[in-house]
Amino acid sequence: MSDQTPAPADQPAAAPSTPPQQQQRQHQTPRQHNQQRPQPPQQWPDLSVIVPLYNEEESLRELHQQLNSVLRRMNVRYELLFVDDGSTDRSFQVLRDLKRNDRHIKIIRFRRNYGKSAALAVGFDKAQGSIVVTMDADLQDDPTEIPSLKKRIEDGYDLVSGWKRKRKDPLTKTLPSRFFNFVTRLLTGIPIHDFNCGLKAYRREVVKSVHIYGELHRYIPVLAHWEGFRVGEMVVQHRPRKYGKTKFGVGRFWRGFLDLLTSLFTTRYLSRPLHLFGFWGTLAVIAGLLVNGWLTVEWFLGATSLSNRPLFLGGILLIIVGIQIISIGLLGEMIARTRTTEQEYAIREFIK
Ligand code: UDP
Ligand code: MG
Repeated sequence: MSDQTPAPADQPAAAPSTPPQQQQRQHQTPRQHNQQRPQPPQQWPDLSVIVPLYNEEESLRELHQQLNSVLRRMNVRYELLFVDDGSTDRSFQVLRDLKRNDRHIKIIRFRRNYGKSAALAVGFDKAQGSIVVTMDADLQDDPTEIPSLKKRIEDGYDLVSGWKRKRKDPLTKTLPSRFFNFVTRLLTGIPIHDFNCGLKAYRREVVKSVHIYGELHRYIPVLAHWEGFRVGEMVVQHRPRKYGKTKFGVGRFWRGFLDLLTSLFTTRYLSRPLHLFGFWGTLAVIAGLLVNGWLTVEWFLGATSLSNRPLFLGGILLIIVGIQIISIGLLGEMIARTRTTEQEYAIREFIK
């Protein structure tokens, strides 16, 4: 691999074993830094493909076949990480059968269904490749896109997101999704068209530093962008779902909206919640004071009695709500200081 290959010593976990290098590195130019990077040990794969899956028994054999035929031709060392997100069908048995004849396969099996984000998060944690590709298990993503995605990463992007330009999904899904992508683009300023495409490629550092939970997988490009990674996109083929049905109902849109708020909040204001709450809270208090101050002056001048002025209540409301918003910001600051980001998922089996 090229000198873009991230070395394990880049990871904070490896830092304690190499303290002298770590100290030295602060005084190096980027060029020197690259030259002196230790190369990953030979057994590390070049590429990890992570496939989160929930009840996809019909698709797995076909997907595995397609993946292998593409990856063999690429002539890279690779691993296939299947994360079984608590499937209740025969998905796990199918994977175990496949693994008997393919040493590339690793299976992580959750005790219960935690959701796609959790499956991706654990896959990210276990992946060892210098480049990591994620894709859905339902055959909607085309594995033949992997070489081009990898090329994009080698060209310098840290994250390349697939863009399902011609989407093979029902209108009830594509229309709201267009709206979502538009709003997300607007609010985050990241110029990509399809934030929630399952097919993405990442440089290793990205998957080791973004923390996703809940349903935040929709906003991985946003989280990565805010951590300073270079995010790009590439048009990819999309196929209709062949077997089974979608695992996300209409609830996705409402939760997606809330998750957008979370993404914005956690990326911009995570470390300084008071910057957000403090601003709006203070604004409300000032507005309330102005309104009530004006009414009080009028009352002094004898124009009218305060009991006749409903606006007075509005002023009081603004002051109280404002103080509460500021207090929430202060609480947020306290939590931000003591918070632990690690999420725990109960893994039932991890078969390497
Ligand atoms: N998935 C998962 N856990 C879940 C829901 C979905 O691992 O709780 C997987 C699913 O098996 C598929 C991918 O996430 O591999 C995308 O799901 P789906 O195809 O249902 O989403 P859609 O294409 O409808 O957006
Ligand atoms: Mg799908």
